[in-house]
Amino acid sequence: MASLSTAQFCTTVTDLRRLPDAVGPEVAFVGRSNAGKSSAINALCRRRKLAFASRTPGRTQALNLFDLAPVGEAAPARLVDTPGYGYAAVPQATRETWGRLAGRYVAGRDALAGVVLVADIRRGLTALDEELLAWAPARVHLLVLLAKADKLNREERRRAAVAMAQALALRGRDDARVIAFSVLSGEGVDEARAAIEAWLA
Ligand code: GDP
Repeated sequence: MASLSTAQFCTTVTDLRRLPDAVGPEVAFVGRSNAGKSSAINALCRRRKLAFASRTPGRTQALNLFDLAPVGEAAPARLVDTPGYGYAAVPQATRETWGRLAGRYVAGRDALAGVVLVADIRRGLTALDEELLAWAPARVHLLVLLAKADKLNREERRRAAVAMAQALALRGRDDARVIAFSVLSGEGVDEARAAIEAWLA
């Protein structure tokens, strides 16, 4: 299987027609702006600054592709960081363009093996997350990271995970895996990495 810790920046694409041909399976990271997506990618790839935080919104208008080196017999794979949606400080029309870029990539990419949705554990599944998930074909694996889990106590974390699983089931995604996740405490990081790498095996 491909290892997340081999991730190397490949290219930035703002127009899906410019997307390079797939070299193997791809995993897309999606989420609201500020949900903790960049932090999650960096922790999963054991890197400090692979994905840039949302304070640089210029970078977030694009799909950022990262190559994962093949290990053993496995094909090379890619991570795809998509624009965070719902960023309050940009005009509505721009926000919609960013959301569509992520949505159209997720809907139309044959090589897509899985989607990692990063959601703030205190917010749960928002309307924008649901819109994005609606683009994802049913065949694509789904992992939901409940980010910033360190902000809640153990019982609150458990309840948030149950609520997320129920919200996903209501939307036909009872197959999705839900993991409480924190880059500060390390909760869920190894589990999430193993789940994603298994998609790429
Ligand atoms: P993105 O916009 O989704 O890429 O979000 P970032 O990764 O840039 O994170 C947004 C903010 O949440 C930053 O201030 C991070 O430091 C903070 N953050 C991210 N992950 C965690 C976490 O696990 N715990 C806590 N307490 N804060 C986090």
